[in-house]
Parts: sequence; structure tokens; C-alpha cells
Amino acid sequence: MARPAPTSKHTKNRSLSLDAAGWLHPHPTVQHAPSPNHDNRPGRAVVSLLVLHDISLPPGEFGGDHVVQFFQNTLDFNSHPWFDNIRTLRVSAHFFIRRTGAIVQCVATTQRAWHAGVSRFRQRERCNDFSVGIELEGTDTLPYTSAQYRALRHLVHALRRRHPIRAVQGHEHIAPTRKTDPGPAFDWPRFQRENGWKPWQMPAT
Ligand SMILES: [Zn+2]
Repeated sequence: MARPAPTSKHTKNRSLSLDAAGWLHPHPTVQHAPSPNHDNRPGRAVVSLLVLHDISLPPGEFGGDHVVQFFQNTLDFNSHPWFDNIRTLRVSAHFFIRRTGAIVQCVATTQRAWHAGVSRFRQRERCNDFSVGIELEGTDTLPYTSAQYRALRHLVHALRRRHPIRAVQGHEHIAPTRKTDPGPAFDWPRFQRENGWKPWQMPAT
């Protein structure tokens, strides 16, 4: 006698969660693409800040694997003239959210990803030490997709269950003289509404 097919609700509706090492458990919308561009968080640094970014390579071009290759140090910098601008960089983020809402994890949240650079949040320098970096596939001026806001909501929920995150900032807020992302395209009131963050945990808009 044939067994009944397993119900799909367990995979389709299962929420995201992080394992002890800080990797998302397997999920249909999650891909792991480990980046070597990380190191240990210093001392007893607690992960208390979320930093949002945007990226697309080349800027404004979506859907390919250039960003993940860039974070994995496998991007062919000769494949596009614009890549000369980033040829010497060794960077990463913990997560990359594609326009489709698919999530790529490149660094465990217990490790320090290299996403924020010279930065400061409430008198504290070096935000990489105590933050999780999330890159949204996009540009500063083109609205992010609903699928991205949805994926962000699920991811933030998982992160807040694993780490005592108290605030969220854009890269532009913690490095205002150098950075402009995620830019005016990011809908902070929508993020606040969808994630239940209090105003004091958000950047002033
Ligand atoms: Zn950034």
C-alpha cells in the first residue's frame, strides 16, 4: 500500500531559524554560500545591532551571481569595466536577499562579517564587531520588492530569537560621510510596521 505523500506545510510554512553556530537551518528559500571574508568577533561582543545595505553588481543589474562571487572572492573582475572599482576589496555580509526574496547566507552570525567598515553607532566604533549585516539586492533609489520585505521580516524574526538585537540602522546612518545605502528607496516606516520595532530602535527618518 502506498504511503500518503508527506504534507508540504512543514517545509512551506516552517519559519526560519538559526543553529548554534549561527547558520540558518536548511529551508527552501535559503542558500548557504560561505565567504572567507570574516573573522572572530572580539572578546565577548554581543550581537545587538542590525545593519541594512544594498548592493548590485554592476549597480542596477539584478539576478546574477556577481554579488555572491564578490563575497566569495571568486568574481572575475575583468568581466565588467565597473568591477575595477571593487577589485581590491575583500568584504562580505552575513546575508544577501535577492529581488525574489531568496536568502543567501555567507557568514555565520556568530562570526564577524566585513560589511560596515569605519562606522559608529551611539559612540561605539567598528559596528562589524557587534552587528549582523544584511545586503538587499538593489540600488539606493529603486524600490525594494515586496518579496524582499517579506524575506527580511522572516529573517529578522529568526535573528531576534537568536541574538539580543536592540536596534536597526542603515549603512548610511553608521557611516554617514562615506555611505548612502540602503538609501531613500528603503521604506523605513514599512519596516517598522512589519517588524514591530519601536521608534527609538530605528534611525530618525
Ligand atoms: Zn553598505
